[in-house]
Amino acid sequence: MIPESFIQDVLARTDIVSLIERYVPLKKSGANYMACCPFHNEKSASFSVSPTKQFYHCFGCGAHGTAIGFLMEYSGMSFLEAIKDLAQQAGLKVPEDDAPPVDRSQISSLLDAMGRATRFYREQLKQSPKAIEYLKQRGLTGEIAARFGIGYAPDDWQGLHTVFANDYDSLALLEAGLVIQNDTGRRYDRFRDRVMFPILDQRGNIVGFGGRVIGQGEPKYLNSPETPLFEKGRELYGLFQARQAIRESGVVVVVEGYMDVVALAQYGFGSAVATLGTATTATHIQKLFRQSEKVVFCFDGDNAGRKAARRALESCLDQLADDREVRFLFLPPEHDPDSFVREQGLEAFHRAIHDALPLSEFLLRELRSGLNLATAEDRAKLVHEAKALIPKISAPVLQLQTIRMVAQDVDMSPDEVSQALGIRAPAHSKTAPRYAGRRTAPAGPLRQLLRLLSSQPILIGALPADTLHLAGDGPEAGILQVFLDAHENNGFSASTVTALFEACQDEAQKNVLGELLQASDEGRAEEKAAKEELDGHITNLRIALIDHELAALHQRDRQGGQLSTDEKRLLVTLPAQKQALRAGQKIR
Ligand SMILES: [Zn+2]
Repeated sequence: MIPESFIQDVLARTDIVSLIERYVPLKKSGANYMACCPFHNEKSASFSVSPTKQFYHCFGCGAHGTAIGFLMEYSGMSFLEAIKDLAQQAGLKVPEDDAPPVDRSQISSLLDAMGRATRFYREQLKQSPKAIEYLKQRGLTGEIAARFGIGYAPDDWQGLHTVFANDYDSLALLEAGLVIQNDTGRRYDRFRDRVMFPILDQRGNIVGFGGRVIGQGEPKYLNSPETPLFEKGRELYGLFQARQAIRESGVVVVVEGYMDVVALAQYGFGSAVATLGTATTATHIQKLFRQSEKVVFCFDGDNAGRKAARRALESCLDQLADDREVRFLFLPPEHDPDSFVREQGLEAFHRAIHDALPLSEFLLRELRSGLNLATAEDRAKLVHEAKALIPKISAPVLQLQTIRMVAQDVDMSPDEVSQALGIRAPAHSKTAPRYAGRRTAPAGPLRQLLRLLSSQPILIGALPADTLHLAGDGPEAGILQVFLDAHENNGFSASTVTALFEACQDEAQKNVLGELLQASDEGRAEEKAAKEELDGHITNLRIALIDHELAALHQRDRQGGQLSTDEKRLLVTLPAQKQALRAGQKIR
């Protein structure tokens, strides 16, 4: 856990305008900066960055957030990664970070080596008719080859010597995995006579290479080893290039090889990425879900493909949510995505993606495979197998649906299956009506109050003592509580709201905070008028509460619920209180 104060420090030392400007050209417009939104397609600028609030907001697609949120959304970093990135730029050390400190100069010398090697390989491609012929055969144009930075490593034991010269013996080249050193200390190029696919991280840095043989030869694919830059279980080939297409299409397709990614892009399907010779990891899945709510795994129709699909399935289960969708596409046995799209065309591929098997059905298919459900033994076996998978599903409704599917298969009730799987049945919804006096926050007036407080933080001192009590127990009340805590501890200011937005774990609260941050600064009132506005909001809040309470009492009365004497009295006194409030009188 990163302490909230640290997040606040990082944000205080970051300028969101210069951060975003690195990725998106901004134009000053009044107090804010505007640009065409990087998160949706548009012709006129509706993406606005506020230097005073250190917040961005798009009026077109509703994207919004802090510097941290921008990095997460734009580069697909995790929260922690974004914090670390910004902290590092601000010269701050992340507290309680157990990872060994990263040696920046080492990283930058490795990145430099990768960059030089990439340029060399690309030059070499131009001079190799054999490699050019290979790419042409695959139907690739120069444009796509350039987009993916494809190159060629010549058939030469020390090809890189021509570009690195004396640096060929440097530590960086070895650590970057570009050369291999044998027992006698002699070095030679790792990649020889291969078509080279640079692997980019989410910032667009070249962190590794995949090399494919031309024609026959083993191994067919050779990847960079794990280096300080490159961790196979984290990176996805093509993700950097695919981000825009994924955002536009709302789906990301995971294929098995780089050639598939490139070929699909060549045929107009830009949202494909590939794992790098490893099984799909939980980190991969997290990265994918950060880019899109819909993920389709595309596997070859052979046995290896099915095994890979099974592993992908297992890594997904605890990353699922009910608004996320995972599907599995199995191509005909004779095809990989490359050959499929080339033979059948883009339309057919789109259709195949659309018709891909939903995760739940693939899961059931896996469970059923090899079983004869006419026998009690095999039905028991199915439930036994399900125990390893279904309890892991982190999407509650989908889990329930899957349990029902299993129940049908094995001729048991869903409750019995749940029990056998060790899943507690969801608690029955509370049928007893809530006591009328129990409050849910009347969100409208409370939000107006919060909005005022975040634009005029000084007013927090002028809140009546019972405000929190009035606020009830919704997300708005939670935020009010946090505001008041901040006020008591280290002072409450406009920048606190931005920092709170990042520290907030509760989605409902976060939505409210986001809305506060988007609210316009226009018409910011004078302090005296603001105090009156505050009083007005408080009064509205009291009135809204009374309305709420009255409505609940009337409803119970109508439904024949027995009202106590006290409650009956409330039916009379509450409207009077309301009238008094309206008249601007002070109630006792
Ligand atoms: Zn937008």
